[in-house]
Amino acid sequence: PKYVYFFGGKKAEGKADMKELLGGKGANLAEMVNIGLPVPAGFTITTEVCTAYYKNNKKYPKELKQQVLDALKKVENEMGAKFGDKDNPLLVSVRSGARASMPGMMETILNVGLNNETREGLIKKTNNPRFVYDSHRRLIQMYSDVVMEKAAGIEPEEGKGVRQQLEAELEKMKEAKGYQSDVDLTADDLKELIEIYKAKVQEVLGKPFPEDPMEQLWGAIAAVFQSWMGKRAISYRRFEGIPDDWGTAVNVQSMVFGNMGDTSATGVAFTRNPATGEKYFYGEWLPNAQGEDVVAGIRTPNPINEIGKSEHTKHLPSLETAMPKVYKELLGYQKMLEKHYRDMLDIEFTIQEGKLYMLQCRVGKRNGPAAVKMALDMLQEKLITKEEAILRVNPAQLDELLHPIIDPKAETTATMVAKGLPAGPGGASGQIVFSSEEAVKWAKAGKRVILVREETNPEDIEGMRAAEAILTARGGMTSHAALVARGWGKCCIVGAGSIKINFKDKTMTTNGYTLKEGDWITLNGTKGVVYLGELPMIKAAEENPYFQKLMKLCDQFRRLKIRTNADTPEDASKARSFGAEGIGLFRTEHMFYGKNSEEPLSKLRKMIVSKTEDERRKALDELFPYVKADIKGTLEAMDKYGVTIRTLDPPLHEFVPHSQEEREKLAKSLGITLEELNERAESLHENNPMMGHRGVRLGITFPEVTEMQVRAIFEAAAELIKEGKKPFPEIMIPVVSHVNELKHQYDIVVRVHKEVCEKFGLKKIPHLTGTMIEIPRAALTANKIAEYAQFFSFGTNDLTQMGFGFSRDDIGGFLPDYLEKKILPEDPFQSIDQEGVGELMKIGVAKGRATRPDLKIGICGEHGGEPKSVVFCHNIGLDYVSCSPFRVPIARLAAAQAAI
Ligand code: ADP
Ligand code: MG
Ligand code: MG
Repeated sequence: PKYVYFFGGKKAEGKADMKELLGGKGANLAEMVNIGLPVPAGFTITTEVCTAYYKNNKKYPKELKQQVLDALKKVENEMGAKFGDKDNPLLVSVRSGARASMPGMMETILNVGLNNETREGLIKKTNNPRFVYDSHRRLIQMYSDVVMEKAAGIEPEEGKGVRQQLEAELEKMKEAKGYQSDVDLTADDLKELIEIYKAKVQEVLGKPFPEDPMEQLWGAIAAVFQSWMGKRAISYRRFEGIPDDWGTAVNVQSMVFGNMGDTSATGVAFTRNPATGEKYFYGEWLPNAQGEDVVAGIRTPNPINEIGKSEHTKHLPSLETAMPKVYKELLGYQKMLEKHYRDMLDIEFTIQEGKLYMLQCRVGKRNGPAAVKMALDMLQEKLITKEEAILRVNPAQLDELLHPIIDPKAETTATMVAKGLPAGPGGASGQIVFSSEEAVKWAKAGKRVILVREETNPEDIEGMRAAEAILTARGGMTSHAALVARGWGKCCIVGAGSIKINFKDKTMTTNGYTLKEGDWITLNGTKGVVYLGELPMIKAAEENPYFQKLMKLCDQFRRLKIRTNADTPEDASKARSFGAEGIGLFRTEHMFYGKNSEEPLSKLRKMIVSKTEDERRKALDELFPYVKADIKGTLEAMDKYGVTIRTLDPPLHEFVPHSQEEREKLAKSLGITLEELNERAESLHENNPMMGHRGVRLGITFPEVTEMQVRAIFEAAAELIKEGKKPFPEIMIPVVSHVNELKHQYDIVVRVHKEVCEKFGLKKIPHLTGTMIEIPRAALTANKIAEYAQFFSFGTNDLTQMGFGFSRDDIGGFLPDYLEKKILPEDPFQSIDQEGVGELMKIGVAKGRATRPDLKIGICGEHGGEPKSVVFCHNIGLDYVSCSPFRVPIARLAAAQAAI
């Protein structure tokens, strides 16, 4: 088998689409050679060798040695120099390069092939002894660290590594000679230092530094393969989801030198600005420097051109003015590369005595706003197709466009005080308050506040609405606070465990800091980090024309409809502005919170603690106008589009007031004693309310509750019809597990529909009646349920909860461990568990449509706005997904990508 691929001259054996075999770096080096760019010759050892190496007890395939020697010969011919030759030596770099880019995670060794003999030849050739000695001592420093120590598995004590000890020798010499900086070292100094280094290597590692160039080469190759299993590389792969068995390739490439003097340089650049997407060549460079000096941040680099200068860098020399001819050449190459790859690229180059060499290119990483702008610009430039433009933007990145973010420059120097789960993306700063009431009060006074709570419950909702952001010490990504915050597009961090709140003193402590009410903090909800003080924000680009254009483009391709979960007319119109085509979930109960008036809530409470049907009917009658008004407002905001209204779902006790004061008020309004009220409240207590008296079960034990809601819906719709509008309510019964439950409610709907039609003199009120599929039994018996349901909406939050038997409110105790130990590949509450919960959905779809071929099917769980889940919903043939308003754009993009 072929294990080694040559590149150089005019022709390479590999090409760009051979990334799996040659790694990204190797494949792209080959491609650059093929399109005629100046690339120093070299060869790539395939990723298969890496895999074989680890399989066979760290032994290479037997053909490898000869293939490497043959390729090296070709490189020597190309470069007119000979590896290890004492008169005309070739030096090489040995570079790692996996399929997916893992920047800085693995090793690269430069200047391989230098020893006391070959360096004399190089001095004669270059007439630059200082540069040669400097390269030699760099080799010893790098090689002894990477090859002789790390790859050999030696773990020195903190600060006692061979590299540090060599650096200490360098410092010692500078001190002895009275030098300030490395550049003061003369050729003779460096020559002396090399001998000191060698002695030190022998002393620290008990082995001499290898003089034999071949031994150096094979040592470096092995070290690169070893670095695939290095700690850094392994954890990076975990984080990025890169499989361990991909392996890395090794690139052996002739050295070119950016450190030969003032006409030499090295640099890194992007074909467009990766932070903004603006179309201009963007980069940094350093004169008289080698290798990683730029990326590693050892020296402050200069801007590559005049256009790229900022307030910060305007006094620094640009390559454009320092070496105009070389710059022009580079500008031409980057243009050529972008045209060839049809994408923004990240490139590395080196200039040796005025001659330019290309050392790397790859598709560049970019942020959300830049990704969107570049995709649309490139479409306009006819560089890419519409489909490609849509596929170029990662749906998750759209979030970055919709929320304000912390100015990244300010963030790098900010003081971090806590870390939690990134529940609501974006950034926000404000003054700390510890209660919902304070949040509302401060906000009314025009202040920006961050609501800090142990955890949040429905009663905090007003404070959450008023606050800029929410921070909790407990809770997970699907906790109430997180759910609500995301729905509002609010920045939110939950489960910041280091935070301890002292409500009495109105202070909190975290990681040694004590903060009090009114202190400023800033949250990065995308990363889950809390900072001290007020950091500057960058405005989100909701009106970004590129964003709007991308959305329109997506609409040309997607088949799935996108609806939103909204409970208020404000949310409904927000979602409409993001392009929602109807409401997939209107939660009746949410209208009782966050209202300016306490009235509806107190009426609801009255209804809940009623004892007799009479009492209850009276309370319901009082409640009716509020419910009707709210539904009417929402139906109106969504005119023409469907509005799925779910009947009352949560367990009743959630609505019973907790405070003594509230309870007294309620008892009074019912004309009963406090004891009596407490008794009734007590009787509502349930051991497992999530599986208790909720949803359709309420509607069956108290049919009058369903009846009131259905009547409110139909009367609201009837009034709108009379006003010339086209409302379209879809009545949705939750928590159904048996067809008879639905039938019972369906009969109520039919009866009330008839009554309201008569009352308003209408022939009919257009509507649908349907159910949520959120209990496994409902999915399994969907054929029966479809006899009474005109639509299904998968409630995947509950379906996941009951499918796994995981209590959503208690997963914090074990789910992190499950993910850590890879019991589950990811949080099933975030992305649909396609294998299990997804199978229930597929069964539901198939059985439901078997009974009723035109059954409308959607999803209204949190998953409806998660890109992977959206693709799944497309694939199993749903008609729509419904998600929180701020996720509508993400769902539009994901749905378009699914259809391409
Ligand atoms: P990484 O994958 O971490 O970016 P590289 O293999 O690209 O590592 O090497 C880091 C730097 O070393 C490169 O950016 C380049 O400047 C320098 N380098 C690598 N090979 C050569 C070479 N043959 N000649 C000159 N410089 C090189
Ligand atoms: Mg690189
Ligand atoms: Mg539910």
